[in-house]
Parts: sequence; structure tokens; C-alpha cells
Amino acid sequence: MEVCKKCGLPKDFCVCESISREVQKIVVRVEKRRFKKMVTLVEGINPKDVNIEDVTKKLKERLACGGTGKDAIIELQGDHRKRILPALAAAGFPPESVEVKDND
Ligand SMILES: [Zn+2]
Repeated sequence: MEVCKKCGLPKDFCVCESISREVQKIVVRVEKRRFKKMVTLVEGINPKDVNIEDVTKKLKERLACGGTGKDAIIELQGDHRKRILPALAAAGFPPESVEVKDND
């Protein structure tokens, strides 16, 4: 049986990862790249607590777009500000922990 290193509980009972998701402050913003391509940046997820690759995969599926997750930044192709909240919620991040910047 696998045991969580943080709380010592079996993995099935451990809520460390979901707790850390709740307290994290995630910032979503959009950047214009070369050739006027837009990318949506999701920043502030702690890669020590959360599997960024896993979250990136879920967001890409949900938003039907390309993207990469590296270190603490997820980069999604296109402007997804209008749909990012439910997509993040589906990946385990409640909307109240997410700030969507209006910067265009
Ligand atoms: Zn734990």
C-alpha cells in the first residue's frame, strides 16, 4: 500500500494534494506571441504539490487545444479566458482560487 509522505495516510485517504490546490492562487493571463498568436498562461500552480503534466493534459482535452506544461507554468494555445474557469474546476481547482486577468 502506498503511503503519503506528507501526512502518512494511505494514498486513498490522503487529501494533501486537494488541500494544496485549494490554497493556491492561480493567475490566468493571455499573451500575444509572434505572428499575433495568442497563448493563455496559467501560473501559480505549485509543481511540488500538483502534477503539472496531468493538469495540462486535462486542460488541453477540455479546451481542445495544444499546449505545454513546464515547471509552474501551463501554456495553452489560443485565448481561453472565457472557458478556463470550468476547465480548471474540472481539474480540481475551485474558481475562487483562480484570478483571470483582463489585459488586452
Ligand atoms: Zn497526504
